[in-house]
Amino acid sequence: MYPQTRKRFAQHWLRSETALDRIVKAAALEAGDRVLEIGPGTGILTQRLLPAARSVVAVEIDRDLCKRLVQRFGKLDNFLLLQGDILSLDLTAQEQTFSDFFPINKVVANIPYNITGPILKLLLGAIAAPKIPAYSAIVLLVQKEVGERLTAQPNSKAFGALSVRTQYLAECETVCDVPAKAFVPPPKVDSAVVRLRPRPFPVVAANPRYLETLVKLGFSSRRKMLRNNLKGQVDSDRLTPLLEQLEIDPNARAEDLSVEQWVFLSNHLSPV
Ligand code: SAH
Repeated sequence: MYPQTRKRFAQHWLRSETALDRIVKAAALEAGDRVLEIGPGTGILTQRLLPAARSVVAVEIDRDLCKRLVQRFGKLDNFLLLQGDILSLDLTAQEQTFSDFFPINKVVANIPYNITGPILKLLLGAIAAPKIPAYSAIVLLVQKEVGERLTAQPNSKAFGALSVRTQYLAECETVCDVPAKAFVPPPKVDSAVVRLRPRPFPVVAANPRYLETLVKLGFSSRRKMLRNNLKGQVDSDRLTPLLEQLEIDPNARAEDLSVEQWVFLSNHLSPV
């Protein structure tokens, strides 16, 4: 019943009805929503998205799966299948031809885990170049460990540069955990559904490029204290009073600072 999987495309078919229900519920689809699905595979999630949304654009790299998807949904006029690599396909180039399907406002997908980082970058942009216009919601299945990093709070092991970068760009929450056995074949790791809601920026970095540098440097060696990681870039004399102002221990590590505190530091230390 399930097609053979191709390892290079990180194919694992989701079969858990519970997980599918949670994904669709988390997306809170409305009749006007134009959705992007990355890696529809056999269409198990697509099938639930189509009746709940105004339209679905599905991007699938695997030609054989595309044939199946066309057979399954080709007759529906709110379904657009684009065959190609989500990372190199130029979606905006499709907007004129398929204007009914754009602008896309939500992304819902069980993504290929081997390209999670690049997909997040594509969907959210970067600190210095947030994606504009932002999606109103992004609901993704990710590796559990990645989900933990995306939603981590300061002072925890999972809180790192990825957490600051992503949480700066979006509100991140875990919807639910999904065990490996919910897939055929089961992946080596457990999974989680996360919901990201890109921010209309409550805390704005005056110099986003500098914030990017600061976060990268700050987390460069996790065992070291923040001030040691920043040595060379920021004088202790300038850093210490700012940490005091934030009521943060001068010996703190990068993981002890919240996103707002990173932005505060960046805004006070930035050269321009
Ligand atoms: N959504 C399906 C399949 C998830 S597996 C389900 O839940 O059952 C990941 C899917 O992403 C596969 O269909 C795979 O062929 C597709 N894929 C892998 N790399 C891709 C890429 N670069 N661009 C688009 N789709 C890709």
